[in-house]
Amino acid sequence: MAKKLTVLTATAHPDDVEVFCAGTLIRYVKEGHKVYMAIAATGNVGSKIHTGPEIEAIRAVEAQRGADVIGAELIMMGHRDGEVWQDNQTWKEYVDLIRRTNPDVIITLDRDDYVHDHSNVGELAYRAAIWASVSNIPGTKYPPIDHIPTVFRAETTGMTRVAPPDYYVDITEEFEQKLEAFRQHESQHGDFLEKQFGIKDWFEYVTVTSKLRGFQCGCKYAEAFRIVQTWPNHKAYRLLPPVQFESYPSNSGGV
Ligand SMILES: [Zn+2]
Repeated sequence: MAKKLTVLTATAHPDDVEVFCAGTLIRYVKEGHKVYMAIAATGNVGSKIHTGPEIEAIRAVEAQRGADVIGAELIMMGHRDGEVWQDNQTWKEYVDLIRRTNPDVIITLDRDDYVHDHSNVGELAYRAAIWASVSNIPGTKYPPIDHIPTVFRAETTGMTRVAPPDYYVDITEEFEQKLEAFRQHESQHGDFLEKQFGIKDWFEYVTVTSKLRGFQCGCKYAEAFRIVQTWPNHKAYRLLPPVQFESYPSNSGGV
């Protein structure tokens, strides 16, 4: 039997995972792997109608509901929106997060992302991944792990702004469940996401981008990822997998 993996997502806000990589996490869970979702910030600015404490409380509930739909264990790190910085203390929090969860795979955000909470989390998680296995770091609470997790970056909103993906994951069967997870973030729909960014229907956004990535890799819906290119994050494969051009039921009459 294949080894069961532990997967850690390190993202910034409640609902990031649902937009960027929930389908892939649902696949991991379905195949028996353990998934942790670590969210850096509470979402306290994510409303045009609620106060900070009000929306924070609402979003904590929504984050838990989203994680429940995905089947992941939620970890709220308690930072405030816009205040996730690459400082020494926060870096140590990420070292401890990785030690505590002991992941084989980390999925985080891109350093070129449009919001600094996102890009900072992406750097913090990546910059903590190697050090989680190093001893004698003062101020950390958990013992070192015995390996260096492999780090991938999920796609950010408006994904064409950053480099093309390295990997696609077919989420056709998981797509409805991904939407259901995103639906749990009710406070964001019809309020913040629409008023702040001017996109009326974020479900359409998720559908269109998942379809685009699916079209690029030959399935109906997909999520895409980049691997962190620096040594020693890449793993060697003995042989390259074959490219297969298959016709999908949803894509009949294709090329
Ligand atoms: Zn976010």
